[in-house]
Amino acid sequence: MSRHLPSRREWDVRASKLSLTTYNPIREVVENLKIKPNPSKKYIPLSVGDPTAFGNLKPSEHIINVICDTVKKSESRNYGPTIGHEEARRAVAEYSAHQGHVTADDVILCSGCSHAIEITLASIADAGQNILIPRPGYLIHKTLGEGLGIVVKYYNLLPARNFEVDLKSLENQIDEKTAAIVVNNPSNPCGSVYSKKHLKEIIDIAYKYRVPIIADEIYEHFVFSDQEFTSISSLSKDVPVLTCSGITKRFLLPGWRLGWVIIHDRHNIISREVRRGMSNMSTRILGPNTLVQKALPRILKETPQSFFKETMCFIESQAKLACRELHKAPGLHPIMPQGSMYMMVEIKMSMFPKFADELQFVKMLCNEQSVLCIPGQCFNYPNFMRIVLTVPKEILLEACQRMITFCEDHMASSDRILDIEKNPMSIYEQSKQRRFEKIA
Ligand SMILES: *Cc1c(COP(=O)(O)O)cnc(C)c1O
Repeated sequence: MSRHLPSRREWDVRASKLSLTTYNPIREVVENLKIKPNPSKKYIPLSVGDPTAFGNLKPSEHIINVICDTVKKSESRNYGPTIGHEEARRAVAEYSAHQGHVTADDVILCSGCSHAIEITLASIADAGQNILIPRPGYLIHKTLGEGLGIVVKYYNLLPARNFEVDLKSLENQIDEKTAAIVVNNPSNPCGSVYSKKHLKEIIDIAYKYRVPIIADEIYEHFVFSDQEFTSISSLSKDVPVLTCSGITKRFLLPGWRLGWVIIHDRHNIISREVRRGMSNMSTRILGPNTLVQKALPRILKETPQSFFKETMCFIESQAKLACRELHKAPGLHPIMPQGSMYMMVEIKMSMFPKFADELQFVKMLCNEQSVLCIPGQCFNYPNFMRIVLTVPKEILLEACQRMITFCEDHMASSDRILDIEKNPMSIYEQSKQRRFEKIA
């Protein structure tokens, strides 16, 4: 006979610990900022990492037709295998040949790259173990890892060296509980693209301590004209690499939620168990949506190269424009990216003593000029902000001009007085002069 619980008089329905401790810093910080964009100026969110948000960048026309064809086929409605349909996985393997030898068996399809990261973390680390992630970095790895009880530790990137990894800092963070090193190349938020030599240096450290690498390469091939993208797995002889990617950014299809993880493990170091674990993890949501899986081979093979070229050309010219403009803003120091779709801008906080930190700066910038940037804190990196480069050109230009005005309005009066003593021009003339000097 079952034992009955005494009946209760009150409801006591609580949220789980996991749900309450899951923390997405971009959401939290930006929502808590309580921004009130200036109603007299059109709101420009340079905050959203969605290249399709403004409607100026669209997926290839051809791919829209492919999905329209696919939707009519009944097999696009069935459940698929939880790790994904074989043809779709084979297409990913072929598409990813630049990463090294890849077969359909090495691929697990996921619901976006975020899900690929979640499956990977959950399969490789237990609660109490740790992963190392970059600082500054995109904190999805933290959000997902900490939810699972995995400890998140940071290694530094070096802004003066195009945000390369500070190898000493990486090595110092490794301990006996380190389950994986996360490498995000090209980087969100930094826009850095690592050379072969640098990637090899990272692999050497991973090898020395026998720690596998999780490569977040959602921006693979997303690099500017003078840059070359190399997949870290293609250089690794011995270190197992789990590479996460998808169609979100490069194909401009974030909402279709299709990503994957590829297991690179030449010597079957982690294979059996981790493969089984990852496959088990994929049974939790029964695989990503079948419609996009069924269209995936054609999406990967038939998207014209010209489409990718045009997208990158646009983003590169936007990066140059933002860099040139923001150099004119007193107190801002934009760092020209080498790829991805973001730019980091350093804020010389000493020039703006009325703001306690970059959070205040970003908040006031939005309240006065209706331009929203993501404060560096969201990437574990104070005194910087991140802007998104995929917005239409006129809007980016307008946003930069408003940022210049904001900085001129708020720079310390002592800086102005000093300037005036040295040079009795009006503030306006000075700022014009300064802009001119920076361009020259
Ligand atoms: C956008 C992004 C992701 C997530 O991609 P989805 O496919 O939308 O889940 C993962 N990692 C980085 C670095 C990103 O910028």
